[in-house]
Formats: sequence, C-alpha cells, structure tokens
Amino acid sequence: MNLKGQVAVVTGGSRGIGRAICLRLASMGAFVYINYVSRSTAAEEVQKEITDAGGKAAVIGFDVADSTGVQEAFKSVVKEAGTIDILVNNAGITRDGLMARMKESDWDDVLNTNLKGAFLCSKIASRTMMKKKTGRIVNISSVTGYSGNAGQVNYAAAKAGLVGFTKSMAQEYASRNVTVNCVAPGFIETEMTDLLDTSTQEQIKSEIPLAVFGQGEDVAGAVAYLVSEDGRYVTGQTLHVNGGMYM
Ligand code: NDP
Repeated sequence: MNLKGQVAVVTGGSRGIGRAICLRLASMGAFVYINYVSRSTAAEEVQKEITDAGGKAAVIGFDVADSTGVQEAFKSVVKEAGTIDILVNNAGITRDGLMARMKESDWDDVLNTNLKGAFLCSKIASRTMMKKKTGRIVNISSVTGYSGNAGQVNYAAAKAGLVGFTKSMAQEYASRNVTVNCVAPGFIETEMTDLLDTSTQEQIKSEIPLAVFGQGEDVAGAVAYLVSEDGRYVTGQTLHVNGGMYM
C-alpha cells in the first residue's frame, strides 16, 4: 500500500477522523494537504506530526461550502504540487435537533458542509484526475445515512445523499479510471462524539456488537485500502466501519 509520489487532499484533516486519515496517508508516502476551516493551529500540529515522522504535508484553509474558496484552494494545490491523486471528503458538522424544532439554517449549514462541500471539492479535483486518467475519491458518510437517527434529519439526509452522489459519480468517472467510494463510520471517538453525555454514550455502546467506540485509525485504515493499489477494482461502494452496529 504505497502512495509515494501521490498528492492527497483531506478536507477537515485537522482533527478527529480527518487527522487520522492525514497521518495514515502520509505514512504511506503521500504528500498530504491538511484542510481546516477555523482552527489553523490544529492543522499545523498535524503537519508537524507528519514532518517529524519524515513525511510530507502542507496546511490549506478553506470552507468546503464556499465555491470560490474551494476553486482557489484546489487551483493553488495543482499549481504547487502539480497534481491531485486522492481526495478525501471528510469535513462534516452536526446541528442536531428534532425535526419540529429544527431551524432552516441548521438544515442549510449541514447540507452545505457535508454534501455540497463534497460536490464542490470533487468537481474541481476530478478535472485533474480525468486528465491524468487516474484518481481516488473517498467520501466520509455515516451509519446515520443508512439507519437514520432521531434528532438528525439534516445530518442523515446529507450522509445518505453522499451515498447516492458516490454511486452516480463512480458511474460517470469509471471510464477515466477514477474510483469514488464511501466509508461509513459508526461511533468514533472524536470531538463530535465527545458532545454526547456519558449515559447516551453508554446506551450507544450497548447497541454495538463489538461493545466499544471506534478510533479514527479504524476509519483511516478503510480509506487507506480504498485509495491504494489493493482497492483499484472497488468503486461506487460503501465500506462500513461501525463495530457491527448496523449490518
Ligand atoms: P470533528 O468535529 O472532530 O472534526 C471536523 C473537521 O471538519 C475539522 O477538521 C473541521 O475544521 C472540519 N470542518 C468543519 N466544517 C468545515 C468546513 N466548512 N470546511 C472545511 N473544514 C471543515 O469531526 P469527526 O472527525 O468526528 O468527523 C469527521 C467526518 O466523519 C465528518 O464528516 C463526520 O460527519 C463523519 N463521521 C463521524 C463520526 C464520529 O463518530 N465521529 C461517525 C460517522 C461519521 P476546524 O477544526 O478548522 O473547524
């Protein structure tokens, strides 16, 4: 699973699952662009971790939901690194609340970041991949996109939307040897799940056959497989990484 000479962009790579993906792809030899939107220092820490370990990485701040910012960022990556081989659409947010009380802005924010963001980044990155006739795109969906979850109509819609987006894009780009897949994590220990109170966390654990929350590295391993040579014949699929909580 060697990615030497390849250039990867990981959106939301500064924390949690995205951070683990950046570290993993860099350890496989890729030059990794670590994206963040608000916390540049977190992204710089990931960059330092990578370079201290002998890897190569750069930090790039942009909002995945901002079309102009995305265009400029990807143009600068291609100008600087010469190419983009791997895109991981990982940036995501939650704005939970029951449907009856959910604000329209909570719907828009989640759909814009989690779904439109993947569209904007994939659209521009795939131009370079099409020209090269090779590329890998991985979209980070969620178990919630499959099972649904009370209090997350916005998030579930965005994550289910990513699955349809992935299958359609995979069909459009297969002839150019660009694969597009999803990884759907279950409950992974990050700042996103730290927001849950202890009793909710224990309740969720009791519903997971493997009885523990996953780690960012578990998701990173699935991404590593999909972007590597081993994953070359896999496209339009979702790899579930959820301890068995949804089968
Ligand atoms: P975190 O909240 O820990 O990190 C989110 C990351 O996304 C940060 O790097 C943040 O950057 C970045 N980000 C947020 N909004 C934007 C934006 N508009 N543009 C660019 N970057 C942005 O999340 P997790 O690591 O927990 O989740 C990562 C992905 O995995 C998400 O898509 C999430 O939905 C999905 N997922 C997570 C699960 C879990 O249990 N944790 C389960 C299933 C799916 P900054 O720090 O600068 O704000």
